[in-house]
Amino acid sequence: MRGVLFPGGRTVTLAEIPDPILGPGEVVVAMRAAAVCGSDLHGYRTPREQRESSGSDKIVPGHEPSGVVQSVGEGVSSVKVGDRVAVYHYRGCGSCPDCRGGRIMWCADRRGYGGPIHGSDADLLLTDARNCLPLPNDVSHTTGALLMCVGGTAYEVMRKLDASGRIQIAIFGLGPVGLTGLLMARAMGARVIGVDISPERLALASQLGADAIVDAANEDTVMAIRRWAGTQGVNASFETSGSGSAQIAAVEATGRNGRVAFVGFGETQPTISPAQLIEKQLTLFGSFVFPIDHYEEILRFTLKHKVPIEATVTHRVSLDDALEVFPAFDRGETGKVVFAWEDARAR
Ligand SMILES: [Zn+2]
Ligand SMILES: [Zn+2]
Repeated sequence: MRGVLFPGGRTVTLAEIPDPILGPGEVVVAMRAAAVCGSDLHGYRTPREQRESSGSDKIVPGHEPSGVVQSVGEGVSSVKVGDRVAVYHYRGCGSCPDCRGGRIMWCADRRGYGGPIHGSDADLLLTDARNCLPLPNDVSHTTGALLMCVGGTAYEVMRKLDASGRIQIAIFGLGPVGLTGLLMARAMGARVIGVDISPERLALASQLGADAIVDAANEDTVMAIRRWAGTQGVNASFETSGSGSAQIAAVEATGRNGRVAFVGFGETQPTISPAQLIEKQLTLFGSFVFPIDHYEEILRFTLKHKVPIEATVTHRVSLDDALEVFPAFDRGETGKVVFAWEDARAR
């Protein structure tokens, strides 16, 4: 099969890689759509020596897969050849309490696509049968792939924030996760103000239905949010950027009894003092992908409310374009990038 590799130091190659070998309980999925995530850039940017010494230069990146089952291993009965499936993006041991409870992302033996195991930026993906989530015929593979990371992450946060027509939400960072959060929050009825420093991303947020936007590069973010939401600030904030100044602004802009959700890695130094939470009685929490058994709810909601999650996609390309598209994505010149396979290729 062909697969993308990151040798390190912002380089990309398209390599011939041996086809996966099926074991018991495993499934080979022929990729139809594989979305590129901001977190893939960590591996892309890592220096060559580091990639080589860890062996990750030989691992295919990508963890947002959707495709068609090509072959199944011994003992697999939950899926069959030809089934359309989105693939949950961690493999777990299958038997620990977290795996049994659907929280594969907490399994002590979890394995992520793109490291340590081959990911979705290749013609074929090896996974466990239990990771294969049924994708209805009328749902595109692109939507399936997007739900596996940004879509599921954004939905899960809005669910935890109790997004509804009764609240106003500030979203910090309008990349794919922030924009998808905007779409989910709007579909749940909330009013949304979006914050970013990129004029393109702010314009896209407006197009996608943001009630207001704040250009954090040129405006006092907290003041602007209070002007829009009222002096108490918003009821909830969603921080996706990982920027220290956005973390601080999210806490300052959120009003009494408010909640602030964090999904953006980035800033590693403390930015918020517990003293800032006391008087307003704020609740701060992190969120990390979604439990696998929430998939049906996430899919149902997305379809029922016609959430246009594919509107964040700006580039739909073939694997052959990997060499051009990763540098462009790294430079921030694209929205969501999706590798797509022709029907004939993936049967
Ligand atoms: Zn992702
Ligand atoms: Zn487990």
